[in-house]
Amino acid sequence: MIIYDLARKAKTGYKQYLKQRAGRFLSPVRRIERVAPLTGKRYVAMTFDDGPCAMPPNPNNTAASLTGHILDVLKKYNAKGTFDVIGTTENNYPDVAGKEGSFTWGGVRYDHYPDINTDKLAGVKNQPDLAERIIGEGHEITNHGYAHILFGKIRLIYGKRACFDNIHEVISDLKKLDELVQKYYKHKIRAGRPPHYVDRTRDGHSAYDAYRYMNYQYLAASFDGGGWLVSDYEKEVSNMIRPLEAALKADPDALSGQIIFQKDGCNMARRTPVADALDKQLELLTEKGYSVITVSELLELSPFEDTGDTEPVFEYARELINAGFCVAYRNNTLQPDRIANFGELVMMSVLPAKLHREFCDYVDGNFHAPQESEQIAKAYGITPAHPYFHAFPVAVRDGLLKPGNPDGLDANTPVTSGILIKYLTRINPDIRIDVSSSGPLTRRVVTENLARALLKI
Ligand SMILES: [Zn+2]
Repeated sequence: MIIYDLARKAKTGYKQYLKQRAGRFLSPVRRIERVAPLTGKRYVAMTFDDGPCAMPPNPNNTAASLTGHILDVLKKYNAKGTFDVIGTTENNYPDVAGKEGSFTWGGVRYDHYPDINTDKLAGVKNQPDLAERIIGEGHEITNHGYAHILFGKIRLIYGKRACFDNIHEVISDLKKLDELVQKYYKHKIRAGRPPHYVDRTRDGHSAYDAYRYMNYQYLAASFDGGGWLVSDYEKEVSNMIRPLEAALKADPDALSGQIIFQKDGCNMARRTPVADALDKQLELLTEKGYSVITVSELLELSPFEDTGDTEPVFEYARELINAGFCVAYRNNTLQPDRIANFGELVMMSVLPAKLHREFCDYVDGNFHAPQESEQIAKAYGITPAHPYFHAFPVAVRDGLLKPGNPDGLDANTPVTSGILIKYLTRINPDIRIDVSSSGPLTRRVVTENLARALLKI
């Protein structure tokens, strides 16, 4: 197991680096790990990956199917889950099973759910009754990839693994599942989680680009529900209960705003401890007054990781983000004390549907922008690789910016009251701006005034 431990450590370090980097630019796609707790109420979300799964729980539960059992237990506690489903792994062949208890247990080249050669027992495509039940009982479905194929390579652990060649293949895989769920179950998917959290595509793009195209949020998690690490069965079950119990005992608010990761499938030893642990987990949470709600419900109540409802800017930012505007950084922080720059102001203010269209056209055009858009952005010092590139042509077309940049601003210029007043008056001529400082303004001030201008609140 040493190689796996090392790999896991390397992965954790890399994840921290990515997280830091993710705090630098605003993004329509936010990585949702957890959200700020709300005053006076405890909310938590639970995600279940790799299902729906019609295989019976293993080894000692009498339920007909794992997902059916999870749904029964959730119902008992009036809890709502987020099922991070797949389409099917039935086409992931030729393949052979790897070593039992290793990452390749279910296949060397691909993942297979619930197991190799029994692919028809899992996934929305072949388990329509379970998908129907999930949605019918008020749970949420998110997109874990139609075929659960890696978005890109990770050589250390997944060296022999097949992966998509480019982002267009990733998007078409995501679309396939999205359209299936939309067409047959009338359920709009709002988030996705990449298989094994592999973010980079082989052609240098990322899961964020794919999710932006799909209009999704990036579904992560903050609390490991456990059970995927193999030991003996009783220990696997208690590994799913004890950490949760200890956390709640130390601080009853510990799970507030968190997203718990679980599996709607087997661990590496083909067992399903979640079947025997879930009831106790929900009992513990219920005892402490938690409401278990879907990730989308959680995000509507508390959208940001760093800013909760005790902050005055919270309501303004929440209204903006619920209307689809791009307000938060990629790591889902608001950073209200940070100085706002002009690129952010433009990015936050353009109409979401137009910004989305601009981006999709760019991806569909194989990452080439029309010359006209390039020229508009260039005047503001923005290249097509810049995360705010797409906002500039939209802002010029909508009259928020003057072509040719007569004011000599660029994306990094700090926003002052003079810049803000001039810009917001173009959005809403009646706006009364509440700015006392003459120096650079914080994101708090910019966000509040932008919400007043855009939403007239
Ligand atoms: Zn998975």
